[in-house]
Amino acid sequence: MPGFEMFGDAERKEVNDVLDNGVLMRYGFDPMRNGHWKAKSLEKELSRVLKVEHAQLVSSGTAAVSVALASAGVGYGDEVIMPTFTFVASFEAILMLGATPVLVDIDDTLTLDPKAVENAITERTKAVMVVQMCGSMGHMDALRSVCEQHDLVFVEDACQAIGGSYKGKPLGSIADLGCFSFDFVKTMTCGEGGAVVTNNQDYYIKSDHYSDHGHDHVGDNRGLETHPFLGYNFRISELHAAVGLAQVRRLKEFVARQQSYHQIIEEAISGIPGVTMRKVPEGGELSGAFINFFLPDLESARAVAKAFSEQGIDACFHYFDNNWHYVRKWDHLKQSLSLNRLAPEVQKALSTLATNDYSQSDHFIARNLSCLIKLSWTEAEVQARAAKMASIVQAVLR
Ligand SMILES: *Cc1c(COP(=O)(O)O)cnc(C)c1O
Repeated sequence: MPGFEMFGDAERKEVNDVLDNGVLMRYGFDPMRNGHWKAKSLEKELSRVLKVEHAQLVSSGTAAVSVALASAGVGYGDEVIMPTFTFVASFEAILMLGATPVLVDIDDTLTLDPKAVENAITERTKAVMVVQMCGSMGHMDALRSVCEQHDLVFVEDACQAIGGSYKGKPLGSIADLGCFSFDFVKTMTCGEGGAVVTNNQDYYIKSDHYSDHGHDHVGDNRGLETHPFLGYNFRISELHAAVGLAQVRRLKEFVARQQSYHQIIEEAISGIPGVTMRKVPEGGELSGAFINFFLPDLESARAVAKAFSEQGIDACFHYFDNNWHYVRKWDHLKQSLSLNRLAPEVQKALSTLATNDYSQSDHFIARNLSCLIKLSWTEAEVQARAAKMASIVQAVLR
């Protein structure tokens, strides 16, 4: 996945354009720019690549989720349904708005189970956020139809899945609002950065204003711009956007490489008795950022994870035992360890997390291994790695 592995002359050239004119900010200073608008150019390129009407760059993927939800009006008293398996950014972005995260079970796609979503809907539910974990996707048609039936905003966190698609549509472009991260370890990186994409002009305009102190961006004098509503500062800098502009032009090459490496490893391990691959919904094409598979039970998953790390197969995650991506170890969330006072509704919802029955999610995450696919590998390295992974898995399952 990490685009930083491919950092080179193209990235340096774009950054140097910005350093040469000295305009590190994305808005204003027109006469000093020598025609360089890195953030605007990257937004244009993202819209083209992701086949969406609008893209709004922001300072991080976490900011992208908050800005997307805010632009759809999510705030205090609203519930947002999200999966138990995701990056911590999902609940952080919801909590930041004063809204209530409602964590529901995943299925074998490794994201939201549409049935679990339906069961969690209350009169306070405002949005459903699918998180396209590890380069794949949820059952998008089923999730969309639940959202339509209940008049909910459908949000798609595609931070780990840029380059994948569902029925020909790029992941991130399918729901009402899509979110991307360009942090240092994502498939394409800005160093830090993110984007909100949408085909809804109203959401776009709100994202644009909200991420820059509510500025309406009309005219050429920031001091005279009006503020139709309150905003914050989630701006990206020109330096970060410059890196992303070089990377987005190479995205096709990055994704093709990930996908071909994914295929090599899948061919090596998918036929092993006892191994099942993660479910990819019909019409789905993976981005190849990770390869995910299930072992028969928790013990064999732990044994394979241990053998992988002892025998040099790095960057394979058993998220059940990891503090990063799964509800089981999110003690700070379960205990509401917040620096500031949370709304009573939010605290109450979080207090249920320690005792909620997430055995359906456990069933998948306990048995899942998720292995990062690196862009810097050579094909020969991938072949060797795939063979070694297969022999380790076979040895454990024998
Ligand atoms: C990386 C990531 C984010 C947040 O991105 P940052 O840019 O690091 O804030 C959000 N969601 C998912 C699924 C991610 O992987």
